[in-house]
Order: sequence, then C-alpha cells, then structure tokens
Amino acid sequence: MRPLVVIDVDGPLNPWAAKTKPANYRPFDIKVGWWRKLRIWLDPDHGDQLRRLAEETGAELAWATSWSHRANTEIGPRINLPQLRVIEFHDEHGWKYPAVARYAYERPLVWFDDDFGLHRDRNREFVHKRQHLTTALVHVDPATGITAQHLSEARKAFSSNP
Ligand SMILES: [Mg+2]
Repeated sequence: MRPLVVIDVDGPLNPWAAKTKPANYRPFDIKVGWWRKLRIWLDPDHGDQLRRLAEETGAELAWATSWSHRANTEIGPRINLPQLRVIEFHDEHGWKYPAVARYAYERPLVWFDDDFGLHRDRNREFVHKRQHLTTALVHVDPATGITAQHLSEARKAFSSNP
C-alpha cells in the first residue's frame, strides 16, 4: 500500500515561533479577508525536499492543516508543490486524529506537525490503533520548521518498518 506523508502548514512549513527566521525563509503577505494580511514565512526548498521524499519512498503527500484547501492555493504554489489532497477535519473533539486515521487507513504514515501535544488521549488512541503499522508522528518545532533531521527521520521510518 502506498505510504502517506501528511503535512501541516503552520509550524512545519511556516516557523511562526522563530524570533529571527532561519536562513532561506522568505516572507509572504497573504490576504485573509478584505483588509487583513497575514505574514507567513516559507522556505522555497521545502517543496523539492518533500517531493523528493515522496518520490523516493513511493509516498503520497497530503495536507492536514487549518489552511484546509487554501494550502493548495496559498502555500503549495509558493514552494513549488503540486495540488495535494486535503484531509478535512471537523471533529472538534479529536483534532486531526480521526480524519488522518481514516485517510491513512492501513498505510504507512509519516506526519509532520507541531501540535501533537494537544489532545493527548486522542494521540495515544491514534498511535495504539496503528501499532501494527509504520506510524511516525514527526514533531516539528515551530521555531525551526522542517529540517534535514525531520526528513531523515521520515525516510528511516519508511525504510525500517513494514
Ligand atoms: Mg501547526
């Protein structure tokens, strides 16, 4: 079965907690509503790095982010990612876990996010139900964004487990 790589935007791609943005990040002002603009920081190399990870491991890339479908219009094109499937989550009690569990189903999974600390019970339940499957919840510090270390953690997860 085709492995799955799930990507969150704020934290992993947009290091919102960094006091000074790490090298290589560029600012983008994104319109959110008529008057308001939101400044985010993106590393244009992340697109290539994630596509390479997907190609090498045969994985599908998908979004699980509160940007929802706007990830495909506002984020992906700025870092050269193609249109990806959007995992929609509306279950307020379970954060993204139920939706990602359904979409990943029995596939090996790598998931980049900065908020695994939320909903600890759901986190435990999610990991427990997938204990027979490759499940790498890769916590990304929102002060750094995805680094080479996170990417190698992902590769290792896909290569060392069934
Ligand atoms: Mg986030």
